Amino acid sequence: MIRQRFILLMATICVAINLCALPRYTMAYDIHLDTQSHYLYVNLNIMFDQPTTDTVTLEMPVWAPGYYMIMDFPKNVSDFKATTDGTTPLTWTKTSKNQWAITQQGRQLQVSYRVYAHEHSVAESRVDNRSAFIAPNGVFMYVKDDKEHRVTTTYHMPSGWNKASTGLKPVGANEGTERTFVAPDFDTLFDSPLLLGNHFTTYFSHEGHDYEFAIETPDGFSESGIIDDFKRMVSTTTRLIGHVPYDNYCVIHLGAGGGGLEHLNSQACYTSGSYRFASHDDYLRHLAFVTHEYFHLYNVKSIRPFELGPFDYSRECYTPLLWVSEGFTCYYECRLLMQAGIVDGDYLLREISSSIRTIEESEGHHHMSLRQSSYDIWLNFFNHSENVISYYDKGPILGLLFDIELRRLTNCQRGLDDLMRLLYNRYYLDLHRGFTEAEFWQAAAEVAGEELTTLRQYVDTTDDIDYDSILTPAGLALDRNTWSLYIINNKVSKEQQKLRKEIIGK
Ligand SMILES: [Zn+2]
Repeated sequence: MIRQRFILLMATICVAINLCALPRYTMAYDIHLDTQSHYLYVNLNIMFDQPTTDTVTLEMPVWAPGYYMIMDFPKNVSDFKATTDGTTPLTWTKTSKNQWAITQQGRQLQVSYRVYAHEHSVAESRVDNRSAFIAPNGVFMYVKDDKEHRVTTTYHMPSGWNKASTGLKPVGANEGTERTFVAPDFDTLFDSPLLLGNHFTTYFSHEGHDYEFAIETPDGFSESGIIDDFKRMVSTTTRLIGHVPYDNYCVIHLGAGGGGLEHLNSQACYTSGSYRFASHDDYLRHLAFVTHEYFHLYNVKSIRPFELGPFDYSRECYTPLLWVSEGFTCYYECRLLMQAGIVDGDYLLREISSSIRTIEESEGHHHMSLRQSSYDIWLNFFNHSENVISYYDKGPILGLLFDIELRRLTNCQRGLDDLMRLLYNRYYLDLHRGFTEAEFWQAAAEVAGEELTTLRQYVDTTDDIDYDSILTPAGLALDRNTWSLYIINNKVSKEQQKLRKEIIGK
């Protein structure tokens, strides 16, 4: 702990020295799109308030928060040029795979480069004839050690395009083919993907906040269906936490594909490409996906492990707590839909049963703890070998077990909701930082009134979970032949009925 503090102090001093070397400056980007060749043409203008001959090092992220793998975004950058005024070239050199060091001369620095953008991923950019999805981490560079700098971005869209959907609010006239946005810092810029084009949009206000749905392929979209359910889910979620950290929230739904990514005031998800769902279960899967990404604006973007922000975009960002950020979010995507009256308790039991089945039938649960699966995500992102488990599977099981245990230990006075609220209020609102692993367990003990040693054992080790000891007090049981959760009907006490009603509403 002492050593960590020493390193932090030295890092702070070094940053301060580096920043002192450069005069104050403004940063403005212009982005042009080539829809035929799938390139973004990026121009950066830095204007110093006095002439300088210092070295300016620009840095581009190598990963995107929420997508825990090294993406090496600079691999898509080419034709890098630096000039003083657009004509007089400056010398520059690469100093690492994601850094460009420029020898500056004078007040103005103009940098241009192009970014190949033809990936169907929520973490990477794509531009084509239909639209453009901008994932900012792989497009923009910041001055090294100064990510807190304000930045302006102006997009020049092809003729015929007239919409730019994002969590950021546009500056100036919101018409024609040009859109300008100002981000107070690069964490905000990187957390604000955009959909550009002439896609379908619908706007509405709900309980004092503004919402936008931006949909690339709106086939079969009906506002009376998903928007109504979305509003019910949002009301349930914001009531649970008791605070809304955004003015506006943007849902970006891309065409056919896979994956979704959470942001503080937006989400970007690929869909099936249509809103004509084959079954009600298909619709619920879509709604649960939207709910999952929405709940992340709390659990991971604001209720966050200490290591997850402010980010170091140059390297892996290890945390042992993704099972809280992702696993509890999986539990809440069921619980919120249930509390919003969209599904019943059977839905929650069915979904958690599926997670239990996946874990208990896997070889990996004998070899990797839940805690380790969080830490090693950087090795295991697409690894489905027999040596690993996913916190997406074991995490929601712990979500249910936490909720039951917290309610049992407090005679249903407190539950997992109270732990989420405590973490939000204490660390996000009051201390403006994430929580450490020790602080998480300490907060859980405060809510429970005692240490949660058994649950910690199920997180930190590969020991078998004694389901009966936790489920029985909630009037629930597990069929070990099918790994299905079910309701105990006979000889159930009033206490068991009360706890079960808290968990599944019946
Ligand atoms: Zn997630």
